[in-house]
Amino acid sequence: MRADILAKHWPGPIGSLIDGEIVEGTGEAIGLVCPATEELLASYADAGADVAARAHTAAERGGGAWRALSASRRGEILMRAADLVARDAEALATVEALVAGKPIRDARAEAGRVAEMLRYYAGFADKIEGRVVPVASGHLTLVTPEPLGTVVQITPWNAPLFTAGWQLAPALAAGNAAILKPSEWTPVTSLMLGRLLIEAGVPAGAVSVVAGFGHTAGAALVSDGRCGKAVFVGSVPSGRKVAALAAAAGRPSLLELGGKSAMVVFADADLAAAATCAQGAIFAAAGQSCTAGSRLLVERPVYERVLDWLAEGAAKLRVGDPLDPATEVGPLQNARQYASVRGTIAAGRATGARLVLGGARPAALGEGPGYFVAPTIFADVAPDAALAREEIFGPVLAVLPFDGEEEALALANGTDFDLAGAVWSRDGAKALRVARGLRAGSVWVNGYRTLSVQAPFGGMRGSGFGRSSGAEVIAEYTQAKSLWIETAATPVFPFGYAPGAPG
Ligand code: NAD
Repeated sequence: MRADILAKHWPGPIGSLIDGEIVEGTGEAIGLVCPATEELLASYADAGADVAARAHTAAERGGGAWRALSASRRGEILMRAADLVARDAEALATVEALVAGKPIRDARAEAGRVAEMLRYYAGFADKIEGRVVPVASGHLTLVTPEPLGTVVQITPWNAPLFTAGWQLAPALAAGNAAILKPSEWTPVTSLMLGRLLIEAGVPAGAVSVVAGFGHTAGAALVSDGRCGKAVFVGSVPSGRKVAALAAAAGRPSLLELGGKSAMVVFADADLAAAATCAQGAIFAAAGQSCTAGSRLLVERPVYERVLDWLAEGAAKLRVGDPLDPATEVGPLQNARQYASVRGTIAAGRATGARLVLGGARPAALGEGPGYFVAPTIFADVAPDAALAREEIFGPVLAVLPFDGEEEALALANGTDFDLAGAVWSRDGAKALRVARGLRAGSVWVNGYRTLSVQAPFGGMRGSGFGRSSGAEVIAEYTQAKSLWIETAATPVFPFGYAPGAPG
């Protein structure tokens, strides 16, 4: 029974982690369904607005206690949290595989990356420094980066543990309290991470995890006047709603949204390497990745050759149970996404695009259960077709031919999404020219998808705004404060005269 595996790692009820305690919601019941077997793993009640308000109250108190610690002490605590994540990595990875459907080998790697992110930002905690600016008045004017107070972080279901660590680590390092609202379909690894942070020494209340729906708990968290910033990772429509709620409350937001990223392969590239890399770019995480390389643009003379190699390699990918260490491609995370991807494939077929591979459940898995879709490749996709323009968030690749650099760039930059992209060529100057012309937050030359906590990440235009990772994210989680200290023997007052004698 898979429910037993979950219960082993998360005994007790699922609810919200507030002040270090699990608070059960009172709203609509939410079932956690195993994407590989469709078994009900557990159910819990939506947190709703009342629990959201409690999280803000806890954050005010806990955040104060967190900020009262020295920056070095905060760094030590985050370092300790990294060690605890490493200690519990297998449990975290197992729950991620079970609930989110992430292949266990990827889930293990992601647990490792959460520990890495905590270590990286633990090191930042006592290096967030201010500056002195040379103002004309002669004041000693200090600029100090101040925490925002409480940040609300709303995350999706595709990489819940990774995303939680990605946003919590810098927010806490910068001295904020954080309230995380994971996807309603995948709250457990976020709860586990929240508990580990508290075990490491983060004051209970400085980190809360609210388990519930976006339109109830999420909206209430963002609309609360105690929210200092709304950080959102998820789809474009929900992100726009969250940004609008934050704006209505007069608060800033950071949006990490979807993508329709293109890999451009020129005829002079290492074609075998490009074809292999393209498989991982789209089929890792079953395409449920914001950076998925979901469009492959291939120069016409080598178009059929690259397609053949790609299809041959992708046909061998092992699709199956996420708990099996041999699995490379897991299921889609939920029934809604499964229906959506299958609908997109059916619509794609109807447009006349050439189905080169997949397009259905993997034959070896029969009729079910599980939300599995075989790696699917459509060739000759029209640039204006939905397959080439819309985020599918599934293992579906659209392949398009092009002639020359100009057309490659026009196609690659031809959607509203600008999250990631890649160019493959052995001509260094051409590769750099095209890489510079690609409109995207992250671009790879002769590669794809390598990401690191040290480098900033984020989208342009429709893919969002603000940057996560790297040193850049510290600016997202702080605000500059100017502190003016009078140093003149005879200060000049704002109306332009020196103080006279009293009376
Ligand atoms: P989603 O937008 O449906 O949900 C994301 C989160 O928003 C969930 O926690 C949900 O409960 C919450 N939410 C939904 N409506 C809300 C509302 N009205 N108010 C407040 N919160 C609300 O996204 P999803 O289907 O869970 O995730 C898939 C999407 O996430 C894809 O588009 C993918 O590209 C994107 N994504 C982006 C990045 C990135 O870094 N750019 C990373 C991972 C995923």
